[in-house]
Amino acid sequence: MKAFILRATGGEGFEHTALADVAPAPAPGPGEVRVAIKAAALNHLDLFVIRGLPGLPKALPHILGSDGAGEVESVGPGVTSVRPGERVLINPGISDYSCEYCLAGEHSLCLRYGILGEHHPGTLAQLLTVPSHNVLPVPALTPAVTWPEAAAFSLVTLTAWRMVVTRARVRAGEWVLVWGIGGGVSLTALRIAKLVGARVIATSSSDAKLARATELGADVTLNHRTQEVAKAVRQITGKRGVDVVVENVGAATWEESLRSLAKGGRIVTCGGTSGPKLVTDVRPLFWHQFTILGSTMGNAAEYREVVRRLGRGELRPIVDASYPFDRVREAFEHLDRGDQIGKVAVTV
Ligand SMILES: [Zn+2]
Repeated sequence: MKAFILRATGGEGFEHTALADVAPAPAPGPGEVRVAIKAAALNHLDLFVIRGLPGLPKALPHILGSDGAGEVESVGPGVTSVRPGERVLINPGISDYSCEYCLAGEHSLCLRYGILGEHHPGTLAQLLTVPSHNVLPVPALTPAVTWPEAAAFSLVTLTAWRMVVTRARVRAGEWVLVWGIGGGVSLTALRIAKLVGARVIATSSSDAKLARATELGADVTLNHRTQEVAKAVRQITGKRGVDVVVENVGAATWEESLRSLAKGGRIVTCGGTSGPKLVTDVRPLFWHQFTILGSTMGNAAEYREVVRRLGRGELRPIVDASYPFDRVREAFEHLDRGDQIGKVAVTV
């Protein structure tokens, strides 16, 4: 089968990647399904894998891609939840469904947790074999969910849902600050915060992205290249600060995030695209009783819930661009430039 693979890590750009012929994904074993991928979507996680994460990927060449959607090609023994030909979304988080965390329903805390394209072969391939737990039918909508939309849905929607709803427990009327609104997680966090009735301040370095954020419901927008965010947040909220900051930038924004919080405020983070080491002054942390919350992907119940929301017409993915499979490297260059609003997809 054709797949987009990584032959070595640590390159300058994408010189170690290639569209190549590889052995087909294995036939599905008990409890597994094999999916004929119709589209995949790119995430910054893919760029981290390409540039090299400690100890990852475990074997080279490695098939890239965390997000994907397609038609069930075949099912293994005992699978009754889906049948061949069915259109499915793929949850990129692979759990063992047997450790203490899985048994408690917290699949993204699984002792053997892994993500497609990072710890397991990815979605940028014609075929992918995954546990049947990881696929759910694409909801019927009018107009129908396109393959690029279906591929763009899972990783960012699941991640943002857990951050905003489960971890930060954002409530109606609360103020939420979301950094870097062009990114998929941030854009989806904005939309989820609006769904639950919060007031959202969105930042970007691009006025075009801020205009789009306003269309998607942002109450206030800030250009973080030209404005001091914490100071502006104080003005907007009558000196009070925001209840919740949604973070995935890390080193470049962390101190400004802490300065933006109201007393008792919460920061929820799923990553640090600008750098992993954060400086936290412990004095405001304890005095104002802040809470710092980590969040990764989501559990099976959260995944079912976001797919149910999609079926109600909510949180339909925003696809900035879609490329054919033979131009997948151009798609990565597009993601890497960072000028997109929403997701970059690839049809397979
Ligand atoms: Zn587990």
